[in-house]
Amino acid sequence: MGDCHALWSRVLEVIATSSTPAIQSFFAGVRPVGLQHDRLIVRVDSPLVADWLRQRYRASIEAALQQLCQRALQLVVECAPHGAVTPVTPPPDEPPAPLSPSARTLPPPRPPATINPAFRFDTFVIGSSNQMAHAAAYATAQQPGKVYNPLFMYGGVGLGKTHLMQAIGHAVLQRQPRDVVHFISCERFTNQYIDALQNHTLSKFRDFFRANVDVLLIDDIQFLSNKERLQEEFYHTFNDLHMQGKQIVMTSDKSPQELQHIEQRMVNRFESGMVVDVQSPDFETRVAIIQKKLEQYGTQLDHDVCYYLANKVRNDVRKIEGALVKLLGYASVRHQAVTLDLARECLRGYVAAQCVTLDAIQKAVSDFFDVRIADLRSSKRPRAIVHPRQIAMYLCRELTTSSLTDIAQSFGGKDHTTVLYACRKIEQVKEQDEMINQQLHALKRRLGSSEERCEQVQ
Ligand code: ADP
Ligand code: MG
Repeated sequence: MGDCHALWSRVLEVIATSSTPAIQSFFAGVRPVGLQHDRLIVRVDSPLVADWLRQRYRASIEAALQQLCQRALQLVVECAPHGAVTPVTPPPDEPPAPLSPSARTLPPPRPPATINPAFRFDTFVIGSSNQMAHAAAYATAQQPGKVYNPLFMYGGVGLGKTHLMQAIGHAVLQRQPRDVVHFISCERFTNQYIDALQNHTLSKFRDFFRANVDVLLIDDIQFLSNKERLQEEFYHTFNDLHMQGKQIVMTSDKSPQELQHIEQRMVNRFESGMVVDVQSPDFETRVAIIQKKLEQYGTQLDHDVCYYLANKVRNDVRKIEGALVKLLGYASVRHQAVTLDLARECLRGYVAAQCVTLDAIQKAVSDFFDVRIADLRSSKRPRAIVHPRQIAMYLCRELTTSSLTDIAQSFGGKDHTTVLYACRKIEQVKEQDEMINQQLHALKRRLGSSEERCEQVQ
């Protein structure tokens, strides 16, 4: 029994590194009850929660178990009200699972399957915000290494970049099961590189990435910022793979041009294939995403509840999912149906959705600095106008998910490089100039925005 508790808390630690607080609170109700042979048994109170665990989280839990125990363990989910069933005890001669404390830091010789089984093209909802990215990802998956190489997808948090990237992996493996598809976060790539340096196994590391991989999916490439040696290493990995016609797919929270402290030659490589952005989903897409998720969970909700949810959380699909899981869990533990009233009660803590628009930012800046909106949108150059204009452009970039081109357009049809220049300028001066920092805070407060884009989950 003790072993299963220790193992389960290690599993939770591993899962916590890649999940949201909403998902983690969902795991809080899961009780480990036994470790038998190659099975870890957990128990939950609700059939719905049991289904989610089996359908959505089994793969990540079993991957974590494999990582921790260095052997395959199966997750068994039992459903029974708390205290209603005699706990399962392991037979006396059962050897405890070997917990390897270093397992999380040392890369296994062959990386475990880290692709989420749910991140496929058929579970991805297409809308105007992600249509281009989806089309590029889909085409890449049909002809890896041939059409868009590299494929660079960028956009805000929780908008489906990793999902699309992993969907490419699934699709390639389905067509060409012998291909080696390797998904890795840039952070993990960094850690493996550092380990290889320390353990003098750099040639093995290079062999793996440069000679063994057919499709390299590298997530959150912005992590390369400020890491010169790592950039050098990745530059050569990239070139080697590219020269062999192997597919490289990258995601980032910024466009290649906006990435800071990354060598120009890297930026040039990133831009040499296809660069696409992913934007926040509109209302219809959000509703469709909620419905798709419900389908995956094997449950349904009334339209009015879906609409309510889609209005409540707008910008980040991960947060929409978090709110949905919270709502279903809330209803399940109360043994109540999900009604609009219940949704209101459960999601009371979520801030009312208020997306900051480009117009609202220009209006707020115009009031704050006492300059006319027409002047902000003009090409006039006096400092009294240039500074507010740059602040407004910076806030548009920070508080909305509009593209540089859209922002430039809203400022009287300027070029997107003007917005880029303004953002960099403000980014630089705000570090040194407390007054500018205060101006930014004051404006954000007026716009009713927290540090993050649009509305947030509390
Ligand atoms: P990102 O990598 O952009 O931060 P993810 O790809 O991790 O975001 O997506 C966050 C969550 O939202 C995932 O569970 C993903 O399945 C879901 N998601 C995002 N966009 C979509 C979409 N268009 N259709 C279905 N699910 C989506
Ligand atoms: Mg991601």
